[in-house]
Amino acid sequence: MEEKLNISVVVPLYNEDESLPELHEWITRVMRDNKFTYEIIFVNDGSTDRSWNVIESLAERDAHVHGIKFRRNYGKSPALFCGFKAAQGQVVITMDADLQDSPDEIPELYRMITDEGYDLVSGYKQKRYDPLSKTLPTKLFNATARWVSGIKNLHDFNCGLKAYRSEVVKNIEVYGEMHRYIPYLAKNAGFDKIGEKVVHHQARKYGHTKFGLNRFVNGYLDLLSLSFLNKFGKQPMHVFGFLGTLMFIVGFIAVVVVGAVKVTHLINGTPAPLVTNSPYFYIALTMMLLGTQLFLTGFVAELVSRSSSSRNDYQIEKEF
Ligand code: UDP
Ligand code: MG
Repeated sequence: MEEKLNISVVVPLYNEDESLPELHEWITRVMRDNKFTYEIIFVNDGSTDRSWNVIESLAERDAHVHGIKFRRNYGKSPALFCGFKAAQGQVVITMDADLQDSPDEIPELYRMITDEGYDLVSGYKQKRYDPLSKTLPTKLFNATARWVSGIKNLHDFNCGLKAYRSEVVKNIEVYGEMHRYIPYLAKNAGFDKIGEKVVHHQARKYGHTKFGLNRFVNGYLDLLSLSFLNKFGKQPMHVFGFLGTLMFIVGFIAVVVVGAVKVTHLINGTPAPLVTNSPYFYIALTMMLLGTQLFLTGFVAELVSRSSSSRNDYQIEKEF
């Protein structure tokens, strides 16, 4: 059987033609100095500049270079997904194409995976060279992500420079804009040896950032979805059914109160107030309606998740 490569470097890129030759040269130098067997997979995410021409000409000169070209721009997560699928190495390293991440970090990241047994090691740009408008919200974002995901030791979820044991990338599915939460995806898949390494960071040399401030809004929404999916994705009825039933019971009690008051008055022959005069009537109405809605939502969600093709996907680590 063919020996597995030591390292696959996966580089998602969108309009980064100026950086690519320098990045390629730098990665190559590091790989040679450390005698790694390797491949570099450039995933061209629908660039409209000369990026693809550059990749083709690099590949002509260097057999380590592979290219994947999207017909249009899909985003960083889809680019990573396809890069992960193609990767052959024992350890997969992702890095941004803009030269903000340093290839000099690769040997140590590789060592942490192979020798220290980490499943995933994330870079941590402790000293960043980005504008304040980005670094400040990033701090908040990471604090929330740490809290929601329960991965307490990560400071920089969205760092483009990460290293993975190959099983990790083959067993998680990055989609949408979930590249921000790969450590969380990995953890949910059962890969919980997640580490961090402080890495050097540089200001962008060429081009400009591809993500605006809306990254934070979308980032938070994605985090909510992930946390919800993880907790209730497989049994939505457990949350909706519970809330629905609870509300329905409260509503039902209110109905009984309203009804009992009315009936007592009737029995005693005293003039009974209209049920619509009682606040309990409105509580009953709202609660029973909401309760039914929630319950039905839960039931529909249950049917949807039951017919999903991944309903019986489990992470099996070993089998004989
Ligand atoms: N990127 C991509 N597709 C996109 C947007 C970005 O492949 O739709 C790549 C981009 O070329 C870069 C990496 O993702 O290699 C990180 O993007 P960027 O440097 O703009 O993000 P920032 O460093 O500002 O977080
Ligand atoms: Mg960048």
